[in-house]
Amino acid sequence: MSYLLSVAKFGGSSLATSEIVSKVRNIITDDNRRKIAVVSAPGRKNKSDKKVTDMLIELAGNKDSKLINEILGRYEDIYPGQDIDEIRNILLERVKKDLPFPAYLDSLKAFGEEAQARLLARIMDAVYIDPSEILVVTNDFGNAVILEDSKRKIKDRISLDRLVVIPGFYGYSANGELVTFSRGGSDLTGAYVASCFDNVIYENFTDTNGVFAADPKLVDNPAKIDEITYEELRDLAYSGFTVFHAEAMKPVKNAKIPVHIRNTFTYPSEGTYVVNDREADKPIVGIAYKNGFCSFNVEMTGLNDSKGILNRITSFFSSRNKSIEHIITGIDDVTVVAMRDEFSDAEIDEVKTDLYGLGENATVVCKDNVGCLVVAGKGLRGHIGISGEIQRSLAFNGVNIEFITQGSLERCIIYGIEHRDNMKAVNAVYNRFFKG
Ligand code: ASP
Repeated sequence: MSYLLSVAKFGGSSLATSEIVSKVRNIITDDNRRKIAVVSAPGRKNKSDKKVTDMLIELAGNKDSKLINEILGRYEDIYPGQDIDEIRNILLERVKKDLPFPAYLDSLKAFGEEAQARLLARIMDAVYIDPSEILVVTNDFGNAVILEDSKRKIKDRISLDRLVVIPGFYGYSANGELVTFSRGGSDLTGAYVASCFDNVIYENFTDTNGVFAADPKLVDNPAKIDEITYEELRDLAYSGFTVFHAEAMKPVKNAKIPVHIRNTFTYPSEGTYVVNDREADKPIVGIAYKNGFCSFNVEMTGLNDSKGILNRITSFFSSRNKSIEHIITGIDDVTVVAMRDEFSDAEIDEVKTDLYGLGENATVVCKDNVGCLVVAGKGLRGHIGISGEIQRSLAFNGVNIEFITQGSLERCIIYGIEHRDNMKAVNAVYNRFFKG
C-alpha cells in the first residue's frame, strides 16, 4: 500500500510497561513516514491490573492522595529515570480545581493521555502537541464531538518536519473547557488527525493481531482477516467486533484513508487493512454474534391491509425513546427487535398493552434471550444460493432460526436465534465457509 505519511495510534496496552514503550519507540523510528503518534493512557499490564483512565475516574470521586501516588507511580515505572515533576504538578492542579462535576471528571480522565504524550515526546525528542492547540470539540462531557474548525488548526500546527506526539481522547470546547470523547476515544483523535492529510495511512497499534473472521471467544483460533472494507467492518462491529471505536470510522471512511489494525507486540507482522474497497474472493468476510435482544411479535388477522399500522407500532417505541434494532414483517404479523436492557419490566408490559390495543384479535408474544448472528461480506451481493448454504449449515447443526433479515444492498444477513445456540451457530457457519 503506498502512502507518504502514517498517523500511528498506540492503545493503552501498547504503552503500559517500559518494555513495550521501548518497542513503540523502535516502531516509530522504524519507518520515517511515521510522523504523528497519538497515544492512549497506560492500559492494563495484566488481567488483574487497572487502566490508568479507570484509576483517574476513581480519583475524581475520592481525591485520595494514595491513589495520586499510585497513578504517578505507573508513569515512573513506564518511563524510568524521567523527572515526573511536570506531570505531578499538572495532576495536583487538576485535583484541586473547583469545577462542576462533569468538567472535573473529564479534566482528570484526560490526564492519563496527556502525561503519556508529554513523557513519550520527551524521550523521543519529539514535539508535544496539546489538544487545546488543535481540537475544538462540543461541550458534551464524556462524549465530545470534534468540530470542523479543528481541521484548519491541525493543518496549521502540524508541519511534518519533526515527529509529533498528541494525547488521544479529548479536545477543548470553544470556551476553553477540556472535554473527553467516549471511552476508547483515542481512536477518534487518531482517525480525525489522519483525515486532515493526504497520502496517509492510519495505523492503529493494539494488542491483537487484527480483526478475526469470528469471535475468538466463540471459535477456536479463527482466521485473521487480511483486508476488510469500512462497511464490512461496520456490519461486524454492530455485533461485537469492537477492535476499533465505531465513531472513529467516520473520518477515515469519508476521506477514504486506509486503516491498518496491527499488533504492537508482534510488529512487524501485518494485521488487518480496513479499506474503501477490495476484491472479494470469498462471499463472507466474517461472522459476528451479539445477544441481549428481545423481540415483540404482534399477529392480527388483516394486519397487512391496515394502513399506517407500521407507523403506529414504531410509535410505541419512539414515544418511549427506545431504539428499534430490526423490524421483520410477515403477512399478518410484525416482529420488532430491540435491546432488552433499554426496557424495564414495566415498560415491556406497557409496550405489550399498546400492541394488544392495535385490534381486538391481536396476539402479542414478547421473547427474551434473543441473539443475532451477523454474516457479513461484500461477496454476498448477487451470490445466488448463499443464504441457502448458510441456512443449511445452521440446520445441520440443529440451530433454529427465529427471524431473518437482509437489506437489499445484501451487505449482511442477520439471523435471530436463541442465545443458547450461539456457539453452535457461529461455528456452523465458520466451519462451512472458512475451514477446509
Ligand atoms: N484511555 C481512554 C479509555 O480507557 C481512551 C483510550 O484509551 O482510547 O477509554
